[in-house]
Amino acid sequence: MNLILMGPPGAGKGTQAKRLEDGRGLIQLSTGDMLRATVESGSEVGQQAKAIMERGELVSDEIMIAMIRDRIQQPDCENGFILDGFPRTIAQAEALDEMLTKMDVRLDHVIEMKVDDGILVDRISGRFSCTSCGTGYHDRFQKLQKEGVCDNCGGTEFTRRKDDNAETVSSRLEAYHAQTAPLLPYYKEHGALKSVDGMADIDEVTRQIEAVLGAV
Ligand code: AMP
Repeated sequence: MNLILMGPPGAGKGTQAKRLEDGRGLIQLSTGDMLRATVESGSEVGQQAKAIMERGELVSDEIMIAMIRDRIQQPDCENGFILDGFPRTIAQAEALDEMLTKMDVRLDHVIEMKVDDGILVDRISGRFSCTSCGTGYHDRFQKLQKEGVCDNCGGTEFTRRKDDNAETVSSRLEAYHAQTAPLLPYYKEHGALKSVDGMADIDEVTRQIEAVLGAV
C-alpha cells in the first residue's frame, strides 16, 4: 500500500508515519528528514537547502523531485511507502504521478490531516526528538516518561529542529497555504483524498487513519 500524508507543519504527519511503519511495515519517506541529512553531509546542495529551510521556504522542485525519484526506486519501497512532506507543490505532484505511472506503482490513498493554524505554533515550538532513534516528543503534549531518557530506546540525547521557532513557523505555514494546500483539490479530483481530524489526540488520529486504510 502506498500513501501520502498531507497537512501543515506540526499536523503530526511524522508521528503517524512512524506508527504506520511499525504497524504495517511501510517505509516512511520524509523529504524533510532527507534534506536534514543532506544538510548534515555539508554538500553543496545541503548548503543551499540549509538557508532555504531556515527561512521556512520551499526547496526547489527540481531538487525535491530528483531526491524522491532516487529514493522511491530503492527495493525497500516495494512493500509500500508513506510520503511525508512530498509532494508540496503541483509540479511535484505531477512529477510524482508521472514517475509512479512509469514504475507501474499505484497510489492508494492521500490522507489530509486537518489542523487549525492557531494551534500549530504551540505544537511546533515545543517539539524535540531522540538523537538515536528519532522518536518525537513535546514539552507539553508528549512528555518523556522519565526525564532525560527516551521512552523508546533509552537514549539520553535529544535535538530540536532549527526551523521550529515561531518566526520560521509562520513562513512555513504561509508556504503551506500558498503552495501546498492547492494540492487538496488536485487529489480530490483524482479521487484519492480522505481527511482525518488532526486536532484529535494522537491515538484517535491513528484510529481514523487506520479506518481509511482498512484491514491490515
Ligand atoms: P518538514 O520536515 O517536512 O517540515 O520539512 C522541513 C523543510 O524542508 C521545509 O520547511 C522545506 O524548507 C523543506 N522541504 C521538505 N520537503 C519539501 C518539499 N517536498 N519541497 C520543498 N521543500 C521541502
